[in-house]
Amino acid sequence: MSTHTIYRVTCDAPHCSAVGIIEKITDVPDGWRRVSSADHLADWRPGRRRNPSTGRQYTDKRSPWDVSAGSFALHLCPADSTAFDGHLPRTEGAVMLARERDRRVLVSCSCGALSRTTKDLLWVGRDPMPTSEVERTWWLHLPAELQEYATRGRVMESA
Ligand SMILES: [Zn+2]
Ligand SMILES: [Zn+2]
Repeated sequence: MSTHTIYRVTCDAPHCSAVGIIEKITDVPDGWRRVSSADHLADWRPGRRRNPSTGRQYTDKRSPWDVSAGSFALHLCPADSTAFDGHLPRTEGAVMLARERDRRVLVSCSCGALSRTTKDLLWVGRDPMPTSEVERTWWLHLPAELQEYATRGRVMESA
C-alpha cells in the first residue's frame, strides 16, 4: 500500500463552496490565488538597515521566521480572485524576546482601517472565529459578508 497526503482547500470568498486539491499546504490549486498576509515580505532579508529618518545604520535582528510569525493565507478560486482586494491582510512579526514564547505582530489591512499589534497566539475559545489571535484581529474588522469563511460549514448552536 502506498499513501500520500493531499489537502482540500475551500475558496474563502463569500457564498462559494469551490474546493481545490493540493499536495503541499503552501501550494496553490491551478488558477487559484493565494493571498498571504506575508506576501509583502517575499524579498525580506535579515541584516543591516538604514533608518530613513535619522540616516543611521542599524542591524535588523529578526529572522525570516520572526517576521512571518502569525501570518495567514486565504485561498480564492478563479471566479473570486479579487474578492478580498478591498481588504488585503498584512502582518509583520517582531523579534522573539528570550523570556517570552510568542512574538508581537503588527496586523494591518490595505483598507487602512486597521493597524494593531497583537501576539501570535492560538485563540482558544468557543467562538466561531479564526483560530489564531493574529488572523482574528484582522477578521474582526471585516464587513460581515467577508467574515463568512470562518464560520462556513459550522453548525451554529442555538441555546
Ligand atoms: Zn470561490
Ligand atoms: Zn480592511
